[in-house]
Amino acid sequence: MNIMNFEDVDRRPALRRVSDVLVVGGGAAGVAAAATARRQGLQVTLLEKYGFCGGGAVAGLSGTVCGLYLATERAGARPEQVVFGFADEFVRALDARGGIAPPVRYGRTWTRVHDPLIWRDTADDLLAAEGVTVIYHALATRVLLDGDRIAGVSAWTKQGRVDIEAAITVDASGDADVVAMAGLGSFVGDDGHVQNPTMIFRLLGVDVARFRAEYGDDTIMGEAVSAALRRAQAAGRPLPRSKVWLFPTTRPGELLCNCTRITGADGRELDPLRFADFTEAEIEGRRQVHAYAAFIRDHLVGCEQAFVNDTGVQVGIRQSRQVQGTARLLNADVVAARKFDDGIARSPWPIELHAGDRPKVEWILDDYYTVPYGCFVPTAGEGLLVAGRCLSAEHEAVASARVTAQCFSYGQAIGHAAALAVRDRRQPRAVDAAAVRDALRRDGAAIN
Ligand SMILES: Cc1cc2nc3c(=O)[nH]c(=O)nc-3n(C[C@H](O)[C@H](O)[C@H](O)COP(=O)(O)OP(=O)(O)OC[C@H]3O[C@@H](n4cnc5c(N)ncnc54)[C@H](O)[C@@H]3O)c2cc1C
Repeated sequence: MNIMNFEDVDRRPALRRVSDVLVVGGGAAGVAAAATARRQGLQVTLLEKYGFCGGGAVAGLSGTVCGLYLATERAGARPEQVVFGFADEFVRALDARGGIAPPVRYGRTWTRVHDPLIWRDTADDLLAAEGVTVIYHALATRVLLDGDRIAGVSAWTKQGRVDIEAAITVDASGDADVVAMAGLGSFVGDDGHVQNPTMIFRLLGVDVARFRAEYGDDTIMGEAVSAALRRAQAAGRPLPRSKVWLFPTTRPGELLCNCTRITGADGRELDPLRFADFTEAEIEGRRQVHAYAAFIRDHLVGCEQAFVNDTGVQVGIRQSRQVQGTARLLNADVVAARKFDDGIARSPWPIELHAGDRPKVEWILDDYYTVPYGCFVPTAGEGLLVAGRCLSAEHEAVASARVTAQCFSYGQAIGHAAALAVRDRRQPRAVDAAAVRDALRRDGAAIN
């Protein structure tokens, strides 16, 4: 067989759609970007490869909305919210449906555990109410180029190819897929090293009251649990991570478990952009889920009857490809809580770096940093913006900047930037960050 003689065919006619703004990816950033651009009166299409929105938060079962509250060491402090706008709106919409729990302790800050099924419904209803055209089960596979301008994407659907043309395309794929397809500048982690993936799972049958009475309110498990894990490791159990997070959820008898640390069988870091590594991560992730569930059942108080209810639809990817932006958020900016004149989002979340033997957490106390607009604007190419975790940021900076409240905030800002670009017939690089900031202020998003 000579593969050179094969024809690359799909004989079905390609369908064509036209939109002002096209958003690729329906994670937190994509939902916020699509809703915000639509609210400015534009025609908006959102493409999503799964049959639901939520991305890492839902398919990856990441489970909590981090990044809303300040971290502090002040005795007796209560959660102090500093991120508002779309993040706050979505959290309130979840709350109205019983889809999010009150703030729980996460070390020196707080987070809120959400119900992924209610997340999906909330996004569906919100996008439908705004009039966003959503196309599920559509995988963007190519970019449409008009000279140097990204003029939309081609997507694979069961109906055949769909070409969606747009004045502005927003890459909210998490993996900067559109950036890569267009051949624009991107990079991966710290010289190719990325944070490890985690397969999250949920346990049912837990006596949460006994569990809490034994381990306290902090969802980052303390030394008692880590020591038990180390003993089990020494006894040969395949439990590579000894510092784990366990969250009681909105549902009775349930714990959301962020425990696994996935590396290759040969110990190397897995790169989720490689299909072989991504496959290995899924299989190893599911194996580790069973090992951790057995450990929890055997060793943790209140968990004696616990069983795995589900895992993420896919392994959780913290970091992959990121855009080369006109600005880059540096590790030092995060640590120094730097505020930029062109900042379009706030983040009080610590650097939470999942690499090596145990996750490293570096707190930003009683303060937050902001993220500049240029982190979402590719250095080359026209007609394209990115939103979400594929922003331009250094390795440790993205270990802070990637969480859900911030991805909502980026999406909201980039939805406004896209609308300004369409309305004023400007390229994203020429959009004035001050105009984006004004629009965010009008929305009630606190940005400084
Ligand atoms: C293990 C783990 C635990 C985490 N825990 C927390 C936590 O507790 N709290 C918190 O706030 N954050 C947490 N995070 C981070 C957070 O979940 C993500 O960073 C955030 O959801 C990213 O949002 P996003 O919109 O940028 O990207 P994503 O959520 O990755 O969304 C991208 C979307 O694009 C779609 N897509 C991708 N490629 C294509 C394509 N070519 N065509 C069409 N669609 C495409 C995907 O299906 C997905 O829906 C965690 C992440 C991981 C991996």
